Amino acid sequence: MSRVYNFSAGPAVLPEEVLLEAQAEMLDYRGSGMSVMEMSHRGKIYDGIIKEAEKDLRELMQIPDNYKVLFLQGGAWTQFAAVPMNMMKHGKAAYIVTGQWAKKAWQEASRYGEAVKVASSEDRTFSYIPDCSDLDIPEDADYVYICENNTIYGTKFWQLPNTKGHDLVADVSSCFLSEPVDVSKYAVIYGGVQKNIGPAGVVIAIIREDLITDDVLPGTPTMLKWKTQADNDSLFNTPPAYGIYICGKVFKWLKKQGGLAAMKERNERKAAILYDILDQSRLFRGTVEKKDRSLMNVPFVTGDKELDALFVKEAEKEGLVSLKGHRSVGGMRASIYNAMPEEGVVKLVEFMKRFEEEHT
Ligand SMILES: *Cc1c(COP(=O)(O)O)cnc(C)c1O
Repeated sequence: MSRVYNFSAGPAVLPEEVLLEAQAEMLDYRGSGMSVMEMSHRGKIYDGIIKEAEKDLRELMQIPDNYKVLFLQGGAWTQFAAVPMNMMKHGKAAYIVTGQWAKKAWQEASRYGEAVKVASSEDRTFSYIPDCSDLDIPEDADYVYICENNTIYGTKFWQLPNTKGHDLVADVSSCFLSEPVDVSKYAVIYGGVQKNIGPAGVVIAIIREDLITDDVLPGTPTMLKWKTQADNDSLFNTPPAYGIYICGKVFKWLKKQGGLAAMKERNERKAAILYDILDQSRLFRGTVEKKDRSLMNVPFVTGDKELDALFVKEAEKEGLVSLKGHRSVGGMRASIYNAMPEEGVVKLVEFMKRFEEEHT
């Protein structure tokens, strides 16, 4: 067996301990004589798995009792529609567009009501987070929407926008569980798990209870109505059962690492190793404003497309894979999620230094 350092933006690296545990339980889950993949989601064993996953997540994020935790499917994309369908009571919402994912969410919401773009950083290729301290938010907006960590561009909201009393909805797909969070500042926190938590196919939504009602837009599919899912504890239909089981293992792993405060410290240390070289290098440079840098996704370039391609290719030979930047940005992107060991970042930086010496 030979494992690489996988810098993919998603689906992404998972903790090796979790994969090994899943492997050990693959054929016979704790004496049940079957795999978790093979068992009924209505059975006692699976009920224990999903309940424990929720309990551990609540503990990790200190989720207040007046929030529901839903394990859903359909990717983050499906929530781009579910959010307006469940929340646009006045048919209006404010969107802050800081990247492709926020833009897609804004466009999708526009199909269901008036989605007002109240701020954007598209003028400079989404390389910064706009000042959101005093935005012109319509009085009757049902919510303010952000993508908290911009996976493609490598920026992060280090300060939440001033919503002027409106509910805040955040797509946290690529920064989920990377640091402690005050859930009470949000109305809805949701994200696909394939970036920082588990296998693709699961979306976790943490929703303030008063937002879960029968008062949804006409035509909302049964499956997309949050109340359907909440009333059935995420077991309305067959959930992405195996994926949720792996998420549960990752929650246990995170608790063992010391929880989210410990993860934040570790993630800051890892990111600093990479940002330090980008700040000093004669060849590589980061592509976003320093104050808005993400701890999870680190895009960088040499300024020469051919050299970028060569870097990606040669890095792969060293077991440093999936470093190619998103097609809309080019260059490189190192995603250094929770499960990326510090050693992987150190190896990458050592390789960058060697590459720089050979090519300057
Ligand atoms: C990857 C990503 C998405 C899209 O996720 P899907 O699960 O493929 O729909 C949306 N938002 C963010 C922030 C992402 O990183």
